[in-house]
Amino acid sequence: MHQFIDGTYREGRGEEAKRIKPATGEVAETIRYAGTADVDDAVAAARRAYRGWSRATPGERSEAIHKLAAELQARAGQLAGLETAQTGKSIRMSTEFDVPGTVDNAAFFAGAARQLAGLAAGEYGAGGTSMIRREPVGVIGSIAPWNYPLQMAGWKILPAIAAGNTIVLKPSELTPGTSLLFAEAAQAAGIPDGVINIVTGTGRGIGEHLVTHPDVAMVSFTGSTAVGRRIMALAAATARRVHLELGGKAPFVVFDDADVEAAAHGAVAGAIINGGQDCTAATRAYIQAPLFTAFTTRVAELMEQVVVGDPADPDTDLGALISHGHRDKVAGFVDRARDAGASILAGGYAPGGDLAAGAFYRPTLITGAAQDAEIVRDEVFGPVLAALPFGSDDEGLALANDTAYGLAASAWTRNLDRSLRASAEIQAGCVWINDHIPIVSEMPHGGYKASGFGKDMSAYSLEEYTNIKHVMLGRDPGAHKQWQDTVFR
Ligand code: NAD
Repeated sequence: MHQFIDGTYREGRGEEAKRIKPATGEVAETIRYAGTADVDDAVAAARRAYRGWSRATPGERSEAIHKLAAELQARAGQLAGLETAQTGKSIRMSTEFDVPGTVDNAAFFAGAARQLAGLAAGEYGAGGTSMIRREPVGVIGSIAPWNYPLQMAGWKILPAIAAGNTIVLKPSELTPGTSLLFAEAAQAAGIPDGVINIVTGTGRGIGEHLVTHPDVAMVSFTGSTAVGRRIMALAAATARRVHLELGGKAPFVVFDDADVEAAAHGAVAGAIINGGQDCTAATRAYIQAPLFTAFTTRVAELMEQVVVGDPADPDTDLGALISHGHRDKVAGFVDRARDAGASILAGGYAPGGDLAAGAFYRPTLITGAAQDAEIVRDEVFGPVLAALPFGSDDEGLALANDTAYGLAASAWTRNLDRSLRASAEIQAGCVWINDHIPIVSEMPHGGYKASGFGKDMSAYSLEEYTNIKHVMLGRDPGAHKQWQDTVFR
């Protein structure tokens, strides 16, 4: 069963769909999606639970989320296995990145739940003062993508509940399993029924119903920019708050003083992470001209060494992509770049043999594409890196910024001045220097430009999930008389 509503698993009342194993093409399971009536029930449960959860003390919420971290840790093997089975990602990614990242995020928000202090101002007139109350927003409607289902469940649920909200999460219909396990772990941790509800179904089927539900106070969404725009338009009808984490097209800028070997390794890891299905993955490598050949030669060599194979095998570097349709989409981007005259220095094909039945694609390095080519401009969301040379520092930074997106970027240099300049001038929510990919619970993640707005993780995410209320206290009813007198004497 794929609906977890008010603490209970139930069969959905929507249509039936088959979930396919990305690594083999076999049917993994049949899912009965939620219907809109199930979403209504989930929102009603979240609304009922809100009264108690929003009034729990920070200490009580913190204790429950600490227990949730422990319950998630206790399910580490099960979570990692399921994450790999449903997404096709390598078991190393699930075991060493997704599960520990989520447990750490839970531990962080258990602490952060106790840091929601407001400010108090000084005296305003005799016996008057002001204070700030920080209040939860209400029932959060959350929608998540398929690339990091477990981490996305954590990113959405944890700050929301730490701040005293309740939530209805719609994971991607392709990958509901670990979000459901997350909710089970929360129940085992003693988080009251109704605080976390999971509904499984498609965007059109139930996502839009959740986004426009009158009892949803805020929508938090991670996914593509196209769907983000649609959600923002839907939310505009009721002027409700939206938090959007959208697509990316991260530049990877290598200056001529960089450590080429380190940059080449970083580029391969950054490009193939999670099959390149990562909104911060390195997708556009800009290499200062003197290093271009050395860098691309080394990246191509390293890409040929990447082990593509069974996601469950710990020796596999790169598992399957999310679906055969998505793999074909990635291949289409590469084929069109090739047809337009670009060179493929590594990969550029789906492996055959034992892997022919799965949604696999070899790591791919492309050179000779123009800055305005589709492969350089659009989000491919596969293990594909396009490399382009640049001349001056000014040109490199301008090319990095020549994109609709602004989620993440990296610059590779041993020069302090270049590091500082790149971190200041690249328009993205995250700039790594001599690195690409690491994220930590304490630091915010979020976009500029078409990559959205609002922050996930870190104390900044709590800003998204709280309302700031100004309370002006007039202990003495005459304290603010001079302001009233201005209006009416
Ligand atoms: P998607 O936008 O197709 O779907 C995301 C979610 O939205 C899914 O749950 C889907 O069912 C739902 N949805 C689709 N149409 C909807 C509608 N009309 N109304 C309501 N919900 C709807 O994205 P995807 O293919 O699942 O994920 C890949 C995308 O997510 C990429 O663009 C990637 O960059 C982005 N992403 C961004 C971040 C980030 O932090 N910025 C993180 C991960 C993924």
